[in-house]
Amino acid sequence: MASPIAHSFAGLWTFLCLRAHLKTQLTAHRWRQYVPQLLVLVSLANLPDLDFLFGFGFHANELHRGFTHSLTIATLISLTLSCAWRIVPGFWRSAILYFTAYGSHLLIDLFTGTEIGWTNSGSGIPLFWPWPKNFSSPLILIFGVRHKDFRAIFSIDNAWSSVYELLTCGVITVVASVLWKRKLKSRILWKRKRKSRTNRPTSEASARLLSGLQHQK
Ligand SMILES: [Zn+2]
Repeated sequence: MASPIAHSFAGLWTFLCLRAHLKTQLTAHRWRQYVPQLLVLVSLANLPDLDFLFGFGFHANELHRGFTHSLTIATLISLTLSCAWRIVPGFWRSAILYFTAYGSHLLIDLFTGTEIGWTNSGSGIPLFWPWPKNFSSPLILIFGVRHKDFRAIFSIDNAWSSVYELLTCGVITVVASVLWKRKLKSRILWKRKRKSRTNRPTSEASARLLSGLQHQK
């Protein structure tokens, strides 16, 4: 499993995509308004690893990456949550958003393993539970957190993998925000240009009308 750092970033990305889709700017006073949305999406992105907490101290490895890491549970949770609370107007739109946040966890875990690269070192997840087959990507992009016992959790390897996740996810967030802001800026400039082009004929027409009136006098 990847650490909560990567999964929380995925929840944040879902939230930022939602705001970008709704074309709302994240100003300081609006942040407080959006905190519940952000918290729900980040929690959903981490939710599948709850099986680890329940299994820890007993037989964590067997219980972890179980049925919570499946599209079946992702769908059920998204639909149930959408019945209880709509994060955006509309049942299906909310359900899709919840599914995206929850599904981001499954996607990250598919690309998590013990060695980076085309190593086939992923542990796999039962993506189509109750079908017990485990799926994993042959390309591994994220180091898995070592969680055999309490000592392993606080190992130096886990500290390195947390730093790696923080750096890679941080860089992705910064690059994506810069690109998005650039796109937004060019769109605003294009709209302004178009507006000035459509306004010009009107002002020309009014000038012509004015000179016509003056001739009549
Ligand atoms: Zn997981």
